[in-house]
Amino acid sequence: MVLLDEQRESHQKTWRQKMTLLRHTHAGEVKDREALVINPAKTCQPIGAMYAALGIHGCLPHSHGSQGCCSYHRSTLTRHYKDPVMASTSSFTEGTAVFGGQANLLTAIQTIFSVYDPKIIAIHTTCLSETIGDDMVQISKKAFDEGKVPDGKLIIYANTPSYVGTHVTGYANMLKGIVRGLCKSSGTKGEHAAILPGWVEPSDMREIKRLLKVMGVPYVMFPDTDGVFDAPMTGKHVFYPKGGTKIEDIATGGDAKHSFALGRVAAALGSEELQKQCEVEGDVLDLPIGIAATDRFIEALRKVYGFAVPESITDERGKLVDLLSDMEQYLWGKKVAIFGDPDQLIALTEFLGTMGMVVRHIVTGTEGNYIRDRLAEINPDANIKTGGDMYTLHQWMKNEPVDLLIGNTYGKYIARDEDVPFLRSGFPIIDRQGHQHFPTVGYMGGIRLVEQILNLLMDRIDRDVEEHKMELQM
Ligand code: SF4
Repeated sequence: MVLLDEQRESHQKTWRQKMTLLRHTHAGEVKDREALVINPAKTCQPIGAMYAALGIHGCLPHSHGSQGCCSYHRSTLTRHYKDPVMASTSSFTEGTAVFGGQANLLTAIQTIFSVYDPKIIAIHTTCLSETIGDDMVQISKKAFDEGKVPDGKLIIYANTPSYVGTHVTGYANMLKGIVRGLCKSSGTKGEHAAILPGWVEPSDMREIKRLLKVMGVPYVMFPDTDGVFDAPMTGKHVFYPKGGTKIEDIATGGDAKHSFALGRVAAALGSEELQKQCEVEGDVLDLPIGIAATDRFIEALRKVYGFAVPESITDERGKLVDLLSDMEQYLWGKKVAIFGDPDQLIALTEFLGTMGMVVRHIVTGTEGNYIRDRLAEINPDANIKTGGDMYTLHQWMKNEPVDLLIGNTYGKYIARDEDVPFLRSGFPIIDRQGHQHFPTVGYMGGIRLVEQILNLLMDRIDRDVEEHKMELQM
């Protein structure tokens, strides 16, 4: 296959002529910017807290801040999942900003339980309530003391100021809040595993549960958004979807034999809290995306539970290996730029390497030495930026073009400007479908990822190849 340079140039010229408003940068010197972020590769903490909270059955997330924050968080999740997202707000006004949000929150708690009847309210703070200094421990206690929380109902909370962190750290903080508020130790350990997934799609959570079932591992998983963000259309409005982990099941996490946190950045805080509060030992693993990371997940389970890996799982692995070896010629040596959330980037960078692809540029909006060190360990030659933005990524791509861009929907402008195939992956994806239904974790998820990447690269060959070299069989 030989691509015609003139053809490629002609395509790019056509795009470029059309791209005036959407071109955000030009090739040139990349400068370190401390005080300016241009097109951040992240969203805000409470979105992650809201997503984690909705993985508890019968939970109403509550945003302790202004209505605008809550609307933004809900609409971002709704745009990604195309499903309504229920949440309440303390509805701050100018007066609240001066006098504090306690009165609003106490009224909200009473109203929510009497009108919407959730089993639990998961409160997360916002920039404003954190700046005021509202104390969630004290206000929650006051709510119980004043009888605003009916018998059998619960409140948990997480501090999620969004002038630090990202939606991923917001998820991590709420997961810690779930463990702190709900996991109980009875003093007798059970046989089950506590599975703490990082921020992955409902489809991924479903796939992780399927793998556990096939391997015969007893488990409780929390949070679990399977059946929440991908609930079937029944013609009836249901305020609380049937999915989500039940509170009584989460409580048993405190008696788990072992915990498995999947994704250090999003899930390790939860497993540390479980260790501290209930003395549950655990492993913190990468997200099981790709062959090596899925191998490590299964091996970690096998070490604790001592099972022989079922033949069906070995077969799934074999199918993924077969696909990669059949299609290696299309993948080998292709350059990739990738941006998004750290746990996904770590696992994907490793998997792309397994495919023979060369990851050249990696940007995440989330900060952290661990993220940078782990990415550099997997791929020492790539440009890596944590706490970075998409402007930097675009500059890198102009200076060193790639064959494939992977990231959330906001990458489409860069992909169009650079005329590069674009795989939508991560959060948010608001212009394509499938992420809530088809997993990318496990070996079967790996097959889907390879299929998506191959389709993009092959479509590009079909588009650009000289007419007389067009292949039917690929
Ligand atoms: S960044 Fe802060 S103020 Fe803005 S929506 Fe998020 S929580 Fe609200």
